[in-house]
Amino acid sequence: MTTSPPAARSETKTGTRVCALLSCLEKRLADAGVDSPGLDARLILAVVLGCDRAHLHAHPEKMVFPEELARVESLAQRRMAREPMAYIMGEREFWSMSLLVSPGVLIPRPETELLVERAVALLGKKGQSRILDLCAGSGAVGLAVASELPKARVTLLDLCSKALGVARRNAERLGFGSRTGLLVSDLFGVLAKGDEFDLIASNPPYVATGELDGLMPEVSSFEPRIALDGGADGMDLIRRIIEEAPAYLARGGFLLIEMDPRQMTEAEALSEEQGSYRSARRHNDLAGRERVLELQGA
Ligand code: GLN
Repeated sequence: MTTSPPAARSETKTGTRVCALLSCLEKRLADAGVDSPGLDARLILAVVLGCDRAHLHAHPEKMVFPEELARVESLAQRRMAREPMAYIMGEREFWSMSLLVSPGVLIPRPETELLVERAVALLGKKGQSRILDLCAGSGAVGLAVASELPKARVTLLDLCSKALGVARRNAERLGFGSRTGLLVSDLFGVLAKGDEFDLIASNPPYVATGELDGLMPEVSSFEPRIALDGGADGMDLIRRIIEEAPAYLARGGFLLIEMDPRQMTEAEALSEEQGSYRSARRHNDLAGRERVLELQGA
């Protein structure tokens, strides 16, 4: 064990106390630029000890033994290299569900819950809705909608088969396997003429290529570019989705697209030019930024 944490005051021959280890870890994570060092230190220690954070809080004098310390250190090293906590833990909470995530998929973000919220509000009274999650990644959006609508059928499409593997495991773990279809597809490419959905939701890649390297290291160095890079102005996929979606919308069906607030005006103009939508609405995320464009088909 060459990389144990620097000696903490209460370290003994047999181990280190939880409280001393946590304060030392928190400082090292903060020095590495991690923005939630206290929380992340506790998450790492809790997962290694197989307990929850409340237990750590209640037992600050508990000893952490050398094998556990080694495991803590290896996870802490990954976090100090700015690997996202979600990849280190292998899961992320979204819409109060625990989703598996791995480096092949975008980590679901809180603002994306707005897509789910709108989908549920729009479909609420319909029983057997057909839902399409385009650029599904981990399946977060489609599976969260499925969790709210027990009779809905969900189709998850993604260009990346590795991502769909994660989505499939999530669908099975959540118990939605029998009403979830998963297909590798370049946007709508794999669908047949006549396939129709009551609602299409998408969180496509929408970051402008030139802005990727300026994102936090957690994003720019670890998350899949294919899930983020939306081309020169970030709108390559958004354009195609607005153009192609009407062919797959049931009568009066809805299209929900997450985007950067700076893309909203152009996206709405494109939807008007497209000519097949009867209405457009913008929705704000919790930070008050326009994040989801809602289009209703004819
Ligand atoms: N909101 C994400 C970010 O800025 C981008 C997600 C996406 O491109 N779909 O990290």
